[in-house]
Parts: sequence; structure tokens; C-alpha cells
Amino acid sequence: MIGSIPKDFIAELIARTDIVEIIDARVTLKKKGTNYSACCPFHNEKTPSFSVSHSKQFYHCFGCGAHGNAIGFLMAYDRLEFPEAVTALANHLGIPVPREAAQQKVHASHYELLAKIASYYQSQLQHSQTALVYLMNRGLSEKILKDFGVGFAPPGWDNLVKRLGNTQAAQANLIDTGMLIKNEQHKIYDRFRERIMIPIRDSQGRIIGFGGRTLGDDTPKYLNSPETPLFHKGRELYGFYEARQANRTLTYACIVEGYMDVIALHQCGITQAVATLGTAASTAHFQRLFRHTEKIVVCFDGDRAGKDAAWRALETSLSTIRDGLQVNFMFLPEGEDPDSFIRKQGQEAFQQCIENAISLPDFFFQTLSQQVNLDTVEGKAKLNKLGYPLIQKIRPGIFQTLMMNKLSELLGVAPEKIRSLHVGTVQRRPAVQARSLLKQMPNKTKLLSPIQLAITLLLQYPKLVEDPAVVLPDSIRMFKQPGAVTLVQLFDLVKSRQNLTTGAILENWRGSKVANRLAELAAWELLIPEKGLVAEFCDTLEKISQLEREDKIQTLLKTARQQELTAEEKKQLMTLLKERH
Ligand SMILES: [Zn+2]
Repeated sequence: MIGSIPKDFIAELIARTDIVEIIDARVTLKKKGTNYSACCPFHNEKTPSFSVSHSKQFYHCFGCGAHGNAIGFLMAYDRLEFPEAVTALANHLGIPVPREAAQQKVHASHYELLAKIASYYQSQLQHSQTALVYLMNRGLSEKILKDFGVGFAPPGWDNLVKRLGNTQAAQANLIDTGMLIKNEQHKIYDRFRERIMIPIRDSQGRIIGFGGRTLGDDTPKYLNSPETPLFHKGRELYGFYEARQANRTLTYACIVEGYMDVIALHQCGITQAVATLGTAASTAHFQRLFRHTEKIVVCFDGDRAGKDAAWRALETSLSTIRDGLQVNFMFLPEGEDPDSFIRKQGQEAFQQCIENAISLPDFFFQTLSQQVNLDTVEGKAKLNKLGYPLIQKIRPGIFQTLMMNKLSELLGVAPEKIRSLHVGTVQRRPAVQARSLLKQMPNKTKLLSPIQLAITLLLQYPKLVEDPAVVLPDSIRMFKQPGAVTLVQLFDLVKSRQNLTTGAILENWRGSKVANRLAELAAWELLIPEKGLVAEFCDTLEKISQLEREDKIQTLLKTARQQELTAEEKKQLMTLLKERH
């Protein structure tokens, strides 16, 4: 859906929104200098370290590192998905959200097509004795089959082709939605044949794909729709819509492995279960669920593989945990899956397993302690080495502090001492680093590399590019370092669009790998007097040019050690060396 809201509209929305007004309606802000401050709504604190800048249209917490623009705040505070946050801002301003018309039309026709296919499969289920018997044997009632829209794809290669693919355009739509396959010989056929069909719905209840399970032993046992413009496996959670329909608020969410588990659990009264779609639970899955509930219980088999998978889920979840949120781990007896377990033991037994699920801190320290011998110095050192970097992934706050204390208790070493031993080996969050260093260092800009400093200056003072003295040297454009590439993109963006605020600039990087890093730099305290900004920026660009030159020199010298340089290269090296002096 993100793609269907025009980028220009989002930029305009941010330009017309006042972040101070949006946040103040939810958290009472106090004016403090040029900024506004409050106790942070995202972590527990008594003295305010949450700051909102009107000029930058950006908020930042020096305590836990939370940050973002108006859209980001609504997503975090009101726990909205991106399109919902955009709609909320637009409603606030009283302007309608335009959708890219053509794309929206295509999407609408795809939703319609998938709905049509789902009802075709449903009708086919009534004609297949084998399929019905199979489902009845799994203990599924007619009502639950209807609630989840379960159907059946009959045997045969061309049921959908014949029924819905009469024209080339219709066939193309069926291929785009993943329902038909076109092979290398350009032969077109149905993807799903002789399978129980389970429609997968998005958070608004629209069908975006299917999961198919075989009746017999043929492989694969489970087959999902491929990635399509509507269906993204890494983000979707099966049963999420149904769980929200059945529960006004989710007191918890239980992540299980398969859709058959979700359906069986629903039937037995566990209506807050969801499943990932053939992938392990991702950060996106955790973030998404945490927008709707404070507690996630992840369910695994009790065997070795289950324990390993649980540990991977723990590692994935760490960066998504904030104070007040919890992840628990639940292990079923060996050889059982949620479906078989609840059918044998019933709802209460399953509910009991959920309640008894092991908390993240307990699972964390139990698992690590089993890997080392805590009676020895080496064992403690290893525990420290394994545990500390993981704890650093958690957002600073009470929860992280408690985890640190527990580690310190096991090691018999004070938390500050552990931290000091790790300085330099683990990158700490700059927001927190910045605060602790602020007291010691008069000029923190020294901590940033020249490229980081240039990016920081541009993010915070985009008007710099309007000064005639500011020119981006070509050498920086040719610099292949990732940071330099971002710098050039940023420079071109603020040059091409006037009056962008920091919050509006950052919107262009939403979802990208560097988004977080950029937001951290946007919040960095520079302590450069306004009058010195242009000079500082020009100096920094000059330094980056020098770095680029040095990089080229080193590359040429390295080549020279391995083979003779060409005449051209020699000439280039001479010029560069001359420039250096
Ligand atoms: Zn905070």
C-alpha cells in the first residue's frame, strides 16, 4: 500500500503538518528554549529527555533514542501502520488522500479477482468428498471452514485458465496475482491443483494470496502464493485480521508456525493466534504485532530444532522491545504441534501453556548459561562475550538496565565495569553516547567522520545549500563509499526542493537501511554557532575530497605493488600526489 500513496503528497503532508501540535495533543509539551520537551512517552522516566523541534519538524528522546517525524510519531504512539498514519494526518488537515489512480485500479481489480477465486474454491469444496473427509478428520467444523473461507482447488491443470482466463489480459492478471504459472515454453497452467485452499487476508480483510495444502503425500506439503504486489511474505501474518475481528483488543498474540494451527486454535477458542507464512518471524512481524498488543508469545516444538528456532526468534525480537512490551517463549511437548496438542488436550491446557511460557530474560540467561561453565573465569568471560552485544540491541530503558543487572549478577562484575570493557567493540547508540559524552567533550563534532558531519549539517540546516559558497565537488560524486553516496543523494534532494524540514527529508529514506543512522545524525547536537555553519560545511566537504583523493592514491599504490601501472595510471598518480602537497 505504501507505493500507492504518491510521494509528493506525503512530502506536502509533512510540510503542512506541525509536529508540535500533533504531539502536544497526545503528550503535554513544555517550551524549553527553541524546542519543546516532555517526559518521554516511549520509556519510563522522571526528568524530561524527550524533545520536539518545531523548526526541524522532528522529535528525539535522549534517553531511549526514539526519534522521527510526525508520521513516525503517530506510527509509534498511536501504533498505526504507515498508510493509517498518513490518513490520520490528512484527516487532521482535512485533505483527502489521493491514491495513484492507475495503480489503485490495478490493485482493486486484483483484490476482486482473488475474492472471486476464493469463492470458486469454496464452492468446489462441497463437491470433493475426499477434501471434506480430510478436513472433518482434522476436527474442523463447517462454521470454522466458512469463517476462514477454506476451499478446494480441484485436480486439473486449467480450472482457473478455463474459468477466468479467457482473454490475454485476464491471463496476465491471473499471472500477476500468482494464481497461474507461465513456464519457459510459454505454457500457462494453474499454480494450485488438488489442494485445500486457505485464503490469506491483509489487515483490512482483503484476500491477497493463498496457502495450499496437499491432501496426500505429494510435495511440497504446503504451497503459498509467490511474492506479488499485494502479497509480501516477510510482512504478512496469517490470522491477524481474523484475530482482530474476534477480539476488540489483543491481550496477547501467539505466533505459531502454520495456518492449519491458527484455524485449529481458533476453533478451540484460542482466537489470538497468528502464523508467519513459511518464514521465521521477522523484525517486521514483531513490530507489527507490537503496534496492537503488548505481549507476544512465540510457540515452538519442544525438540532441539524448536529451541534453536526460539533462540533465533529471541535475537530477532530484541531490537523491537521497548519498556512495557514482552516476548515469551512457549514449548510444546516433543512431537506435538499446536493443532495436534489442542485437539488432544483442549483449550485450557493450551491456555495454560501460554500462561506458563518462559519470559525472554529467563530464556535468554538459561540458554546462555547452558553454553558456558559459570564456575570458571573462562566461562564467565564467554557469557559476557555472548550476552553483552545482544543486550545492547535492546532499546535503552528499564528493561535493558534490568538485563544488564542480571548479566552483572551472573558475572559478579558491576554493570559499569562490563560496559567499560566493551567500549570500542560494540557500537552503542549515539543518542545515549552523545549524552554521556556531552559532559566531557566540549566539541562533539570531533566524534563524527567528515562524511557523517556533512550529512548531519545538511540534515539539520538544509538551507546551507542556498549559500553561493557551497558547491559539492565532483570528486565527492565519484567517491564510491556508501556514506558518500548518501551524502550526494541528500545534497541533491535539498538542492532540488526548497524549504524541506529535517522531518520531511528523513521521510525520503523511510524503510531504507540507512534510515536509522540518518535519524540519529538528525538528532546529533552539533554545538556549532549559526555564523560558522557555512564555513564548517565547506571545510568538511574539502576534507571529504581529500579522503577521496587519498583513497584513489592508495588504490593505485596497491595496484602498483601487484603489476605495472599503465602510463595513464602513472600520470594520474603523479597528479594526485602533487595535489596532496
Ligand atoms: Zn525515551
